[in-house]
Amino acid sequence: MKEKIIIIDFGSQYSQLIARRIREMEVYCEIVPLIDIEKIKNGEEKVKGIIFSGGPASVYEKDAPTVNPEVFNLNLPILGICYGMQLITHLNGGKVEKADSREFGKAVLEVENNDNPLFIGVKKSSNIWMSHNDHITELPTGFEIIAKTDSSIAAITNNNGIYALQFHPEVVHSECGTQILENFIFNICKCERNWKISSFIIEKTKLIKKTVGDEHVLLALSGGVDSSVAAVLINNAIGHQLTCMFVDTGLLRKDEGKKVLEYYKKHFDLNIVFVDAKDRFLNKLKGVDEPEAKRKIIGNEFIEVFNEEIRKLKGQEGAKFLAQGTIYPDVIESQSIKGPSHTIKSHHNVGGLPEDLQFELLEPLKELFKDEVRKVGHELGLPDTIIKRHPFPGPGLGIRVIGEVTPDKVKILQEADDIFITELMEKGLYDKVDQAFVTLLPVKTVGVMGDQRTYEYVAAIRSVNTIDFMTATWSKLPYEFLEEVSNKIINKVNGINRIVYDISSKPPGTIEWE
Ligand code: GLN
Repeated sequence: MKEKIIIIDFGSQYSQLIARRIREMEVYCEIVPLIDIEKIKNGEEKVKGIIFSGGPASVYEKDAPTVNPEVFNLNLPILGICYGMQLITHLNGGKVEKADSREFGKAVLEVENNDNPLFIGVKKSSNIWMSHNDHITELPTGFEIIAKTDSSIAAITNNNGIYALQFHPEVVHSECGTQILENFIFNICKCERNWKISSFIIEKTKLIKKTVGDEHVLLALSGGVDSSVAAVLINNAIGHQLTCMFVDTGLLRKDEGKKVLEYYKKHFDLNIVFVDAKDRFLNKLKGVDEPEAKRKIIGNEFIEVFNEEIRKLKGQEGAKFLAQGTIYPDVIESQSIKGPSHTIKSHHNVGGLPEDLQFELLEPLKELFKDEVRKVGHELGLPDTIIKRHPFPGPGLGIRVIGEVTPDKVKILQEADDIFITELMEKGLYDKVDQAFVTLLPVKTVGVMGDQRTYEYVAAIRSVNTIDFMTATWSKLPYEFLEEVSNKIINKVNGINRIVYDISSKPPGTIEWE
C-alpha cells in the first residue's frame, strides 16, 4: 500500500501548491476535505503525516471549518499552515483573535533554534510570505514558540510531532519554504522518496488489469493530452478489451481526425471507432451566430452522438467500464464544493449519460496533476506533439469561426490555422507560447492581389502566454515571424486577404474570441 501525506483542505488557494511541492519531493500526497480517522487507525490508509492547509475563514467564527479532534490522538506528525495553525491553537486550548495589524506579503522569519527538526538547515533570518488577519494571542497547551516575525508568532510546536506555521512555506516567496517542508516530510514524517512516475505506471497497469478482468472498456478519445494518456495506459494493460471512440465533429483542426486515427492505430495498436458526425454538427449550426447558442448546440449534439454511439458499442462489446481522462484538479474541484461523498458522480467528463446506460468509471489518472500526466505520457512513448499540445476548446472551431459557422468558413480557418501552427513549430516557438490559434472574422475587406481587386475575410492571429489560463498576456512574437505567417496565409488560403494580430490581454479580453 502506498504511503502518503494527507493535506486537509480548509479552502486555501494554495492547497494544490502544497501538494505539488510534496510530490516534487517524490512523496505521494492527497488533498482531502475531511479526514477518515478510522481508516487511518485500522491501517486501511498508510498515512505518514497530516498537513492542515490555510483558509479564508476565522477559527472563532460560527461554522468555521474544523477537523475531528481525534486527529491529535493518532500520534502522527501534523503541520498546520496559517488557518491550520490557528485551528491547532483553537482546538488545543489556545486563543486566536483578529490582529490589529494584518500581515500581507513579505515578512522576516527569525528562527529561535536551528536544532528543531523543522528548521534544520534554515537560515536564522530569512524572508517568508504571510497572508493573515488573525493571530495567536495565547499559546495552546503544551506548545512553545520556535520562530517569530517582528509582529507575530511565526511558528510553534509541542515537541510531540505537532508543528504550526503562520506563514506559507509552499509559496516561492518563502525563501526557506521548501527546506521547511522537506524537513517536515523527511525528518519528521520519515517519508521515503518513492512516488515515481515509472512505478505509478507499473502499479496502475496491474490495477487496471485486476479491476477490468475479462470485461470491456469504452473511452472517448479527444486527441487531447489527458484522454490520450489514459487510452494508451489502459491499452497497455488490457489491449483490445479497450475500444476508443473518436467523434469527428467537423470542427476539428485540419486533418485532425485522420491524423489521430492513423497515429494511434500505427503506434499503439489502439482499437478506435471513428464516428463521422460532421454533417450533424454543421447542420445544427446553420443560421446560428450567437456564441452561447453555438456552444450549447455543440455541447448537446456531442452528448447525443456520444450516447447513441456508446449505446451501439455497449451492445456490441457489452462494456462494463467507461474510462475517462479525469485528472486530479477536476477531482479536487468537485470535492471542495460538494464534499467527499458526491465526488464520484459529479466530475463526469462526458456529462449527461442517460440513466439506463450503466457503467463503472475507470479513471486511472485521477491522482495526477497535469504535468505528471505529461510525464506518464512521455514514459509511455507518446510524442511531444500530443503531450505538449496547446489546449483546444470543447466546441472547437465552432467558436473560432466568429458568427455563423459554415463548412466553407471552417475549411478556410483550418487551412489558416494549420499554417500558423506549423510555422510556430518550425520556428521553435510553439512550446514558448501557451495557446495559439487563428480566428476567422465575419468581416470582409478590400485588397489587391495580382492587380485584381479582392474582397475577402479578415483572420486574426492570437497567441498568449499564461501560467494558469486565468490571466494571460499576448505573446511578443517577432515581427518577422508575424510577417511571414501573414504572407503565407494570404498567399495560400483562398478566402482571406487580411491578417491582424490580437494584442489584448486577459482580462479584459478572453483567450478565445467567443
Ligand atoms: N483567515 C485566516 C486569517 O486571516 C487564515 C488565513 C490563511 O490561512 N491564509 O488569518
